[in-house]
Amino acid sequence: MSYSVMNHRLCLGGRPAAFRQSPHGGRPLKPRFLVLHYTAGLSVRSAVDWFLDPRARASAHLVLGRQGEVTQMMPLDRTCWHCGTSEWQGLSGLNGHSLGIEIVNAGKLARGAGGGWRTWTGEVVPDGEVVVARHRHESSEAGWHAYPAGQIDTVVAIGKALHAAYGFGAVLGHEEIAPRRKIDPGPAFPLAEVAARILGRG
Ligand SMILES: [Zn+2]
Repeated sequence: MSYSVMNHRLCLGGRPAAFRQSPHGGRPLKPRFLVLHYTAGLSVRSAVDWFLDPRARASAHLVLGRQGEVTQMMPLDRTCWHCGTSEWQGLSGLNGHSLGIEIVNAGKLARGAGGGWRTWTGEVVPDGEVVVARHRHESSEAGWHAYPAGQIDTVVAIGKALHAAYGFGAVLGHEEIAPRRKIDPGPAFPLAEVAARILGRG
């Protein structure tokens, strides 16, 4: 699938991606960075529904499912609320400078009573979808929801199209710009490799 940007909409094979306008954000934006997140959930629908909810006070430009399906929720020249209090190399408030992709992934997992892995809302995650790793901000290993290879490749393909349109200075994880609050996209995500591939430095 080939991605491109036309009129600040992400297109797949020349056709605009599915679009649901979030009420959160909407100020003029010149994107300088791409910030990657996980949704801490298991479905596109739950993430999209949340970013449409007036209570959410959160949004992202794109929500990317586990099969690579994508929903755009804000024009790419308008701000979203995906960073919160954040800082990168002396610049603060990254919502005003970045595009955000929310990648559907349950994030950090808990050991259930029966020994299996569960999401923070109690849903079972099969052992084959779990990576045991230590987060750079933490002192011990934990279980993390794995990202399918195809989903990672789609992040790269979309990121390249966005970089071609806007020219990013960096591709960052939320955990890098809000290190005391945030742990996404976490150690199951190959952030350095993805950033290098998107920026053509791999
Ligand atoms: Zn995040």
